[in-house]
Amino acid sequence: MSSKGEHQTVPLSVLLKRELASEKVESPEISHGQASQSKKGEDFIFIKTECQRVAGDGVSTYSVFALFDGHNGSAAAIYSKENLLNNVLAAVPSDLNRDEWVAALPRALVAGFVKTDKDLQERAQTSGTTVTFMIIERWVITVASVGDSRCILESAEGEIYYLSADHRLECNVEERERITASGGEVGRLNTGGGTEIGPLRCWPGGLCLSRSIGDMDVGEFIVPVPYVKQVKLSTAGGRLIISSDGVWDALSAEAAFDCCRGMPADAAASQIVKEAVQAKGLRDDTTCIVIDMQLPEKPTPSLPPPKKPGKGVFMSMFWKKPSESSSQTEKEYCEPDMVEELFEEGSAMLSERLDSKYPLCNVFKLFMCAVCQVELKPGEGVSIHADISNSGKLRPWDGPFLCSTCQEKKEAMEGKRPSGDGRYSSGSD
Ligand SMILES: [Zn+2]
Repeated sequence: MSSKGEHQTVPLSVLLKRELASEKVESPEISHGQASQSKKGEDFIFIKTECQRVAGDGVSTYSVFALFDGHNGSAAAIYSKENLLNNVLAAVPSDLNRDEWVAALPRALVAGFVKTDKDLQERAQTSGTTVTFMIIERWVITVASVGDSRCILESAEGEIYYLSADHRLECNVEERERITASGGEVGRLNTGGGTEIGPLRCWPGGLCLSRSIGDMDVGEFIVPVPYVKQVKLSTAGGRLIISSDGVWDALSAEAAFDCCRGMPADAAASQIVKEAVQAKGLRDDTTCIVIDMQLPEKPTPSLPPPKKPGKGVFMSMFWKKPSESSSQTEKEYCEPDMVEELFEEGSAMLSERLDSKYPLCNVFKLFMCAVCQVELKPGEGVSIHADISNSGKLRPWDGPFLCSTCQEKKEAMEGKRPSGDGRYSSGSD
């Protein structure tokens, strides 16, 4: 259609070939475990495995692991846990092949986070929540996060990767600058006598985080736009940890991996929580999800070939194929052992995050709001690139588009209209 539609120019035969080639790569075997010690009861876990990308085709293709750490109550965390996945999936166009589906995820995650926040706002909930939301499709891991829970990955070779951003004001200069530019104030709690204590907070509201879902009584420049990272793991596998700040206030990433080395996922999650609580005491909700990805064990043939003694008998935590069973295909996909970065974007600007150019040009729906997916009637709809409502004809090349309420939300998030009507709530963290 347009010259922008470069993926449309890929011949179908090539696409099919690509699909076939990737079918050869086995799906990872995913095992997971979770553990939690509760202080306030505001940490929530959402796990959904064996989801079907194409509904009803019986082929399980992806799994979802998410952690919600609520504050000022648990309503926002519970609401997000119950609605976020649906809101993300609603923003993924139908009829995509696997590569397109995976490539559409970063943008769908942004839309789903913002829609969830907007819906929650309409329910007049003052609580808020951090979100660390992971979708695993074959060997591709996509993580979207707001707040200060963290997701880390250790590849089979022992390299550690951070798959989430830390949106604590205390340690994020860029976010402090963004909030100040949008009209918020960043400072410590003033005890009255001029003494300032505690971490940096955003005023009004006193939140320590620059991004979250919910928190409607703080400025709307506390945005729900997630940092998104997408990586592809080699078939050598790896271990993932998602934990709330209760763990990270006590343990480094290295310490978390080290303390549970060799344990299966469920024991590992318990061990990490135990170590964190032992180190610092139970000062906050302390929750951990551990996910192991590895090549599935081959079904044992009826007459197993005799094995050379002492070779390939025991599996390490990261399974590596015994050398005698290696086929050409496996060799090809098992090496090199590396983590390939597919996508990373942390901007708080919706226009950058929902832009039509990347990663796929034509996966937004033309006459739908890019955030809430409502149908736009003629005359409605504002280009994501427009600053002020300029209702007029929708021209495809101006898209994607927002409905009027999502456009209002976008402007509020960018500090272009007063928000929170100046209400000051008690401090929160
Ligand atoms: Zn909308």
